Amino acid sequence: MPEIYDVIIIGAGASGMTAAGRAGENGLKSVILEKKSRPGIKLSITGKGRCNLTNSADIKEFVKCFKNGEFLYSAFRTFSNEDTISFFEKLGVACKLERGGRYFPASDKASDIVDALIKYAKKNSSIETSCEVQSVYKKENIFIINDRFFAKNIIVACGGIAYPSTGSTGDGYKIARSFGHRIAKPLPALVPINLKSDGLKELKGLKLKNVEVSVIDADKAVSKEFGEMEFTAFGADGPVILTLSGMISEKIKDSKLFLSLNLKPALSREQLNQRLLRELDNFGQYQLKDMLKELLPLQIIKPFIDHCGLAMTKKCSQINKIEREKILYALTDLRFEISGVRDAKEAIITRGGVLTDEIDQKTMQSKIVKGLYFCGEVIDIDAPTGGFNLQAAFSTGYLAGNSIKQED
Ligand SMILES: Cc1cc2nc3c(=O)[nH]c(=O)nc-3n(C[C@H](O)[C@H](O)[C@H](O)COP(=O)(O)OP(=O)(O)OC[C@H]3O[C@@H](n4cnc5c(N)ncnc54)[C@H](O)[C@@H]3O)c2cc1C
Repeated sequence: MPEIYDVIIIGAGASGMTAAGRAGENGLKSVILEKKSRPGIKLSITGKGRCNLTNSADIKEFVKCFKNGEFLYSAFRTFSNEDTISFFEKLGVACKLERGGRYFPASDKASDIVDALIKYAKKNSSIETSCEVQSVYKKENIFIINDRFFAKNIIVACGGIAYPSTGSTGDGYKIARSFGHRIAKPLPALVPINLKSDGLKELKGLKLKNVEVSVIDADKAVSKEFGEMEFTAFGADGPVILTLSGMISEKIKDSKLFLSLNLKPALSREQLNQRLLRELDNFGQYQLKDMLKELLPLQIIKPFIDHCGLAMTKKCSQINKIEREKILYALTDLRFEISGVRDAKEAIITRGGVLTDEIDQKTMQSKIVKGLYFCGEVIDIDAPTGGFNLQAAFSTGYLAGNSIKQED
């Protein structure tokens, strides 16, 4: 007789290891099948190697910042951000709070989180590494994996398509589809973007703080963020850009999108106009480029003046009303055409995945196939940076592992 597991978990990432550990704690016989040679590879590079494991936001804020956030209520209630902190502290990893409500291990080492999670998973379950799941089907209430593993239940914890070098190559979607599930097209999110602009060479490396960035579709701002961004050789990166990228990913195929920068968001248009009049007056016999040093970082001045169609050497006293309007306009709405987002290889998260309305949010069980569960990034949920995505992986993993009962 072949060995029949109560549950087999596909993928030893953040969600899969949490699910396996919890199922094992509940007395279930379980194993994780992981295609890479070691578990938790993506987890080990999170937060630039420091692992921003969760956020101090309350549950309502958590739900609000996710795509399909309502779906996650039960998971966050069952295993909250506070549970995550005490879970890791019990496993010997002290955590610390930083700005923006972000939690990190006190050691600043993501590897401490990985080691703790492996310890938890292995205590109550086992992990088979270098074991890629290539086929899954169900026969007479038993799931058969790679024609050699048998289980009453399976949990698909394969992650999405982001950063495929870590093992997440979209296999979970194929498994879900094979059981009749529909998938919202997986797209790269929390990813840098490409811009069409001649001035990029000059702007490369420029960091802007306190900038208001909008995405413009058909001359309307469809999304707006305030904070930091950076120009790169190909376009733009940084917190504000990453946050906007999921929406850009979704819209770019059907729309011509622009990135609009308000370089002076703290001033009203009238206040800015007054300031500009004052500076032009003060700098009367000096050149426009000299006056703009009062208002802008040095590196942006040439591309900015080119954008306005003016000459760098033009004297301030010679700037007429129309030219002043152009400057004013560019200060609050400096536009760049967006040509796309960078590849999934550079993405932090996937937008898209297994449709949430086909999964029972109280258990993470498929509404289509009994005994089939999902957790983590494979589901159509995603949030901005800040520790939210890992919390969702831990919460949905815990809930999936906790929902399977011995008799199932
Ligand atoms: C560079 C980077 C930094 C990040 N930093 C943060 C951060 O600081 N905070 C935060 O909240 N989020 C962060 N994230 C996002 C976070 O890492 C993910 O949301 C989270 O790891 C998802 O967990 P998961 O278990 O669903 O999937 P994954 O962690 O991707 O794990 C999936 C596992 O399944 C395995 N697998 C896939 N297919 C198969 C198969 N066919 N057979 C067997 N095994 C398979 C993979 O090898 C992998 O080990 C970051 C992501 C990246 C890429």
